Amino acid sequence: MCTAEDYPVRAAARSRTPAELDGRLVTCRACPRLVEWREETARIKRPAFRDWEYWARPVPGFGPPDASLAITGLAPAAHGGNRTGRMFTGDRAGDLLYATLYELGLASRSTVTDLADGLELYGVRVTSPVHCAPPANRPTPGERDRCRPWLARELQLLRPTVRSVVVLGGFGWQTTLAALEPAGLRVPRPRPVFGHGARTVLEPADGADGPLTVFGCYHVSQRNVFTGRLTPAMLREVLAEAAETAGLPVVRPDPE
Ligand code: SF4
Repeated sequence: MCTAEDYPVRAAARSRTPAELDGRLVTCRACPRLVEWREETARIKRPAFRDWEYWARPVPGFGPPDASLAITGLAPAAHGGNRTGRMFTGDRAGDLLYATLYELGLASRSTVTDLADGLELYGVRVTSPVHCAPPANRPTPGERDRCRPWLARELQLLRPTVRSVVVLGGFGWQTTLAALEPAGLRVPRPRPVFGHGARTVLEPADGADGPLTVFGCYHVSQRNVFTGRLTPAMLREVLAEAAETAGLPVVRPDPE
C-alpha cells in the first residue's frame, strides 16, 4: 500500500535502478498532511497557472542515472515542482539554478518551463530530501524522516559514479548527511556544520567507490537571492568547484 508509513523503506529497498526508484516514488502517499497539501494546491492553483494540470505527486530526481554530481535542496515548491513534475522547474529558484548549470556547460538550456522543454543535464542529477511540497516549505521532522529512504537509496544507486554533492541550505545539509550514512558513507560525529562554501569529504564505509565531497551552498530561494545573501557568482563558484571535483568538464566564464 502506498499509504503505509513504511512504504518508502520497503519500496526504496526493492528498487535496483534510479528509474525503478522514481516509478515507485511517484505513487507514494505515506505522509497524509503532504498528500493533502499537494493535491489541495493543485485544485486551488495560482491564477497565473489556472490552465495547468498540476503534477500533484511526489517529484522524482532529474538527471542521468550515472551522474557524477548530485544537487539536493529542501522540497519541491507548491507551484513549481508540484505543478510541473520536475525538481526546481517553474519557480524563480530553479530559474537561477538551471541558468547557472547552463552557463557552466552542465545543462542543455538556460530556461526551463515544463517536462516537455527538452532540458538535459550533463553528469548532474538534481534531487531532494523531501519529495512532496510542504505547507510553508516546512516539512515536519516526521515527514522528513519518512521520506529519507528515497534519497538514501537514490544516492546509493548513484554511488558507483557520484563524487560530489552540492547541498542547498541548512535543512538540506542535515537531511542529506543523514541520508548519506545509509547510502554507505562514513559521516563524522559531530556532523560537519553547514555554511556557504562548507566542504567535507566522506569516505565509503566499505572502501568501495571512492570518497564523496559534500559542498554547502545557500539555498537558491527568492529571499536569499533578493537580499543578496546568495549572488549568482557565489552559486556559480560552488557548482563549478563541485563539478570539477567530480571530474566534470566545466566552462568557466572569462575573468572580467
Ligand atoms: Fe512519500 Fe516523501 Fe511524499 Fe512523504 S514526502 S508522501 S514519504 S514521497
